[in-house]
Amino acid sequence: MQRLIFDEEHEMFRDSVRRFMQSEVEPNVEKWREQGICDPAAFIKAGEQGLLCMWAAEKYGGSGIEDFRFEQIVIEETIRHGDIGFFLSLHSRLVGRYLGHLGSAALKERLLPKCISGETILGIAMTEPNAGSDLAGIRSRAVRDGDDWLLSGSKTFISNGINGGAFVVAARTVPDKPHGIGLFVVEAGMDGFSRGRNLKKMGLKTQDTAELFFENVRIPAENVLGDPEKGFYHLMFHLAEERLISAVQEIAHAETAFDLTMDYILERKAFGRPIAAFQNTRFKMAEMRTELDILQTFIDQCVLLHNQGELSADLAAEAKLHASELESTVMDNCVQLHGGSGYMSEYRISHMFTDARVSRIYAGSSEIMKEIIARSIGLDERKLTRGR
Ligand SMILES: Cc1cc2nc3c(=O)[nH]c(=O)nc-3n(C[C@H](O)[C@H](O)[C@H](O)COP(=O)(O)OP(=O)(O)OC[C@H]3O[C@@H](n4cnc5c(N)ncnc54)[C@H](O)[C@@H]3O)c2cc1C
Repeated sequence: MQRLIFDEEHEMFRDSVRRFMQSEVEPNVEKWREQGICDPAAFIKAGEQGLLCMWAAEKYGGSGIEDFRFEQIVIEETIRHGDIGFFLSLHSRLVGRYLGHLGSAALKERLLPKCISGETILGIAMTEPNAGSDLAGIRSRAVRDGDDWLLSGSKTFISNGINGGAFVVAARTVPDKPHGIGLFVVEAGMDGFSRGRNLKKMGLKTQDTAELFFENVRIPAENVLGDPEKGFYHLMFHLAEERLISAVQEIAHAETAFDLTMDYILERKAFGRPIAAFQNTRFKMAEMRTELDILQTFIDQCVLLHNQGELSADLAAEAKLHASELESTVMDNCVQLHGGSGYMSEYRISHMFTDARVSRIYAGSSEIMKEIIARSIGLDERKLTRGR
């Protein structure tokens, strides 16, 4: 399907990103998967190519590009010619934007140039052993100490957890208020900050996921993001983009699987004919093609709305919900059409299947997305059951 949202400038950019992914990422994916982490040098290479924090102002070394379509292209090419676990967008947008929107002038001057060059890799730490979907239940605490804050607690499942040089950490600042949360930037080397091992996972093997520990970490005032009691609202503001990024990743992943499978079914023969000739195969491919085209059109529309600052949290939730569910369905169909080969590690589809499973869990699970969407259409459980 022809996609109408891109113009010539975007297509030229796509060509250059594709060449970068083919030369600097694709040849390394197998090694990264085996070691369970990508080489941090790959972020430096991406920085040299101008692919990190593209939104940042030129005075910090960025390109000042606000058009999200360029990030969408980076995501699509990273997945097609690299790996979904190489989390450039987590660094550049999911976390980088917090620094850009909420960081003090001193923090931005010190940290942003290193994020743009790839020298400092970013992560975000919200989830705790006892609080994932229920963010208001976090127990990490930050208490004021003069102009500084002292941060204590622990986080788990944190992406870029081993390679990361700076983390946005959510911690409770108002003890008796569920939404009384602050956001703090913790940097590698701060006293009291340590990390656990690289957690072993079912999929996303190129991605390092770790626990983080904070023991009275002294956070200077310049590392506080926005209002230290309004972190919950700062997070909510950024979550629409997080969901959009997830949706863009998920459909790019599913598209890549579709194309791999198309190649396979045309080549592989059974009963004297290509697998592609069986009606079941043709119908499955036709169904997937239709679903992918419809969803891509919707996601592209969300991207344009986001560029105009008009993407609502519930529309982003719809995109994330449907993209992650379709991604899972497509992966399952594609493994099936590969037969036994689809179960073998040497075929890319086998690990795309396990990589995809987390999409319905992280960045807000499918169930949480449904809650948000239901509320947006007037079906708020709390209001519906009040007074019963
Ligand atoms: C590979 C990976 C990378 C991650 N990276 C990060 C990261 O970088 N930073 C970070 O902060 N976190 C990260 N996470 C954590 C992730 O965001 C959480 O795992 C996710 O939000 C779910 O939280 P949970 O694991 O505590 O599950 P729970 O919240 O315990 O949920 C368990 C089940 O209950 C369901 N459930 C929960 N609440 C409701 C409800 N109200 N209604 C209906 N069903 C409900 C859920 O949908 C789920 O099916 C990562 C996780 C993984 C696996």
